[in-house]
Amino acid sequence: LQLDGVPMFGEDGSFKGMLFLLQNITAIRRLENMRSEFVANVSHELKTPVAAVKGFAETLLGGGVKDEETARSFLQIIYDESERLNRLISDILDLSKIESRRSPMDYAPVHMATFCASILDTMATVAEKKRIALHGDIPEELFIEADEDKLRQILINLLSNAISYTQDGGKVELNVREIQDAEGTEKILIHVTDTGIGIPKKDQPRIFERFYRVDKARSRSSGGTGLGLSIVKHLVELHHGEISVESELGIGTTFTVELPMLQD
Ligand code: ADP
Repeated sequence: LQLDGVPMFGEDGSFKGMLFLLQNITAIRRLENMRSEFVANVSHELKTPVAAVKGFAETLLGGGVKDEETARSFLQIIYDESERLNRLISDILDLSKIESRRSPMDYAPVHMATFCASILDTMATVAEKKRIALHGDIPEELFIEADEDKLRQILINLLSNAISYTQDGGKVELNVREIQDAEGTEKILIHVTDTGIGIPKKDQPRIFERFYRVDKARSRSSGGTGLGLSIVKHLVELHHGEISVESELGIGTTFTVELPMLQD
């Protein structure tokens, strides 16, 4: 709490009393702390790939690497780390745009069957590389009111995670259902289910935090930035929806997104 006092004077200049303002500044301070923590995290995340690019480039420039195969593998690392930097920068920009509300909602009716089919099509090549069976089950007549670009990003992030964290030969499914809540409001449930490695119980509440990863090494090797799920959570909330996760180690994971069918 912060206490500020101002003396009050009458028209004749006589002292009338003090005006005190008692403010709860914990919320403001918490926000400031979160912001500086975010800047520190961002700097750390950006420095790692930059250090790798610089280090390997220096070694190549130094002329110490004589055989072509080693030189090529160093160039490949430089290339991969630049790609990672690119992804990080675009995720950080997305997140900051969403968080600062500079990204207004552009609602329009979305035909879920057509929309999901095009997303599954986009993801098919990535799934095929790992021989993962990718299927969808979407009711034919279902329309929802949504911001199509943002909804696409939600589904692409969840599906790419499902594919990344599932072993070769596994299964990933996208299911959409229509439900009514206790008040009779129409909603849709989107389930993204995989037969992958699962998420330990203790990590489940934290995976939506920025830069949180269960296994840093695995996330890095799969090209992850640690920002995907926190972007998803924000985008779901912008649609006035909710996201939850159920997962069992070694069995698989289901992310459930609940969205209102219509926006008021
Ligand atoms: P990343 O870029 O590391 O994938 P995300 O924010 O998308 O970051 O996810 C956070 C963490 O949650 C991941 O690092 C991973 O440990 C875990 N995770 C997300 N989706 C899945 C999934 N389908 N199966 C298992 N673990 C997952």
